[in-house]
Amino acid sequence: MEENKKRMTTNQGIPVDNDQASITTDKQHMTLLSDTHLVEKLAHFDRERIPERVVHAKGAGAHGYFEVTNDVTQYTRAAFLSKVGKKTEVFARFSTVGGGRGSADSARDPRGFAVKFYTEDGNYDMVGNNTPVFFIRDAIKFPDFIHTQKKNPQSNLDDADAFWDFMSLTPESVHQATILFSDRGTPASYRNMHGFTSHAYMWYNEKGEHFWIKLHFKTDQGIKNLTREEATALAGTDPDHATRDLFEAIEKKDYPSWSVYVQVMKPEEAERYGFDAFDVTKTWSQKDYPLIPVGKMVLDKNPANYFSEVEQAAFSPGNLVPGVAISPDKMLQGRVFSYPDTHRHRLGTNFDMLPINAPKAQVNTYQRDGAMNMHSYTGPNYYPNSFDGATPDKKYAAPPVDTAGIAARHEYVLSDADYVQAGVLYGQVLSDYDRKNLVGNIVAHLGNAQKRIQLRQTAIFYKANEDYGTQVAKGIGLDIEEVKKLAAMSHEDRVKATAK
Ligand code: NDP
Repeated sequence: MEENKKRMTTNQGIPVDNDQASITTDKQHMTLLSDTHLVEKLAHFDRERIPERVVHAKGAGAHGYFEVTNDVTQYTRAAFLSKVGKKTEVFARFSTVGGGRGSADSARDPRGFAVKFYTEDGNYDMVGNNTPVFFIRDAIKFPDFIHTQKKNPQSNLDDADAFWDFMSLTPESVHQATILFSDRGTPASYRNMHGFTSHAYMWYNEKGEHFWIKLHFKTDQGIKNLTREEATALAGTDPDHATRDLFEAIEKKDYPSWSVYVQVMKPEEAERYGFDAFDVTKTWSQKDYPLIPVGKMVLDKNPANYFSEVEQAAFSPGNLVPGVAISPDKMLQGRVFSYPDTHRHRLGTNFDMLPINAPKAQVNTYQRDGAMNMHSYTGPNYYPNSFDGATPDKKYAAPPVDTAGIAARHEYVLSDADYVQAGVLYGQVLSDYDRKNLVGNIVAHLGNAQKRIQLRQTAIFYKANEDYGTQVAKGIGLDIEEVKKLAAMSHEDRVKATAK
C-alpha cells in the first residue's frame, strides 16, 4: 500500500502508466481517442477557469479565528458571541473591487473585507469593505455604478468621463469618493486597513429586544497607505503586493489581527436620528455611538490551495445566524439577493457544499439534488412528514419588524445632508498632509474627464467644504466663480447647466 500512496492516477483513481507520451500510431503519430487519460487531462484543463466575480475578482484570503473579548449578550443572543473567551473558526477574503482577476493590488479602489464565521448555528458572513460607507444607497443603482468603474464598453479603457459623470449625478457618493481618493483608497496592504459592515444590522438578545448595530474591525497593525506615486509604481513592480504581504506574513507566523467593535443604536433613536440611520452613505458619529469592544480576529493559516479556498469562497451578507438579522437598508436588501445569486452562477446550485463554504454546523435541509450534489441524503425529502425528519423551531425567529406602508418607488429626497459628512471628514478629520494628497489624487483622475463634468463634480466638493472645492478647482485649473455658481444651484439645475 505504501508504494501506492504516490502512484499517479486519473481523476477516476486509475493508475497511469505514462504521462509523457500520448497514445499514437507509430508511423505518423496520429493520436488515438482511446487515450482516455489524455482526453481527461485536456478536457479538465479546458475547464480550469470559472467565471470570475463581476466585482471583487482579485482577492487574497486566510484562515483564522475570532475570539470574544467583551460581554455583548445584553445586545445579541448570537451563540458565537455568548461568552468571553469563546473562539470561532473564520475564513477571511480581502479584495479590490473593479479590476479583473489579473489586476494590480495597488489600484485605487475600496477593498472588500469579507469574513465567514463557522459558528455552531451555521455560517455568519460579515461582507464589508475597508470603508464605513458606500457610494449609493439603493441596489437598483448598483449595476450602473459598477459599469462606470469598469472599462469603457467600446475601447476597453478606463473611462474618467463615465466615472465622474455618474458620481456627479449621484451626489450621495461624495462621502465615499472622498475616502476613496484619500490615501486610504490605496492601502499599503490588506493587513493595514480596517473593515466595516458599513450597513446597519439588527442584533437581538434572549429577551427579544432588538438594536441596530454596525461592526468595525480595526487593524492592530496600524493604518498604512500608499501615496499615488507609490501605488502606481507597485502596480508595475509587484502587482500582487497585498496578496504577497498577507501570505508571507502568515508564513512567517507574523499573524495579522483586528480588534472588533460594535456601535449600538436603540430602535427609538434610529427614528429620531438627524438622517436615515440606514442610509449606507453615512456613518453614525462615534461621539453619539462610541465603539464598544467585542472581540479579536486573528488570521494564522494560509490556504493550502488558492482556487479551492479563495477563488471558491462564497460570502453573502444574508448569511446571518440567530441573534443577527437584516436592517431596512435598501442597499443591503439588494445585496442579500445578489451575492448568493452570483454564487449559483459562478459555482453552481450546490456552492454551499464546497468545503470552504460548507457550515461546520450540521445541515438538515429538505433541499435536494442539483448539479454537483455531494450529500448522500437519507430520509424524507419533504416537510411536514411523520418519519422523524428535521423540524423548524420558532425560538430562532428574529423579532418582528413593522413594515406597513405604501409600496412604491420611494425616492430619496436629495438634501444637503449628503454633503455634511464628507465636509466633516475633509475639514475636521484629515490632516493637512491627507488633504493635500486627497486633492492631488482627485486632480490626477478628474483632470481626465470632460470640463462640464469636472465643473459639476467640483461644485459638489465645494458644497461639502468650500476649501475642498477651491483646492480641486485650482488643481484642475477651473474658474472658481463658475464652480461657486454651480454649487449654489439645486442639484437639478446644476445637472441642466452642465448637460452636454
Ligand atoms: P470621530 O472623530 O469620533 O471619528 C473619526 C473617525 O475617522 C475615526 O473612526 C477615525 O478612525 C477615522 N479616520 C481618521 N482619519 C481618517 C481618514 N484619513 N480617512 C477616513 N477615516 C479616518 O468622528 P465621527 O464619528 O463623528 O466621524 C467624523 C467623520 O469621520 C465622519 O463624517 C466620517 O467621514 C469619518 N469616519 C467616521 C466613522 C464612523 O464610524 N463614525 C468611521 C470612519 C471614518 P481611524 O483613524 O482608526 O480610522
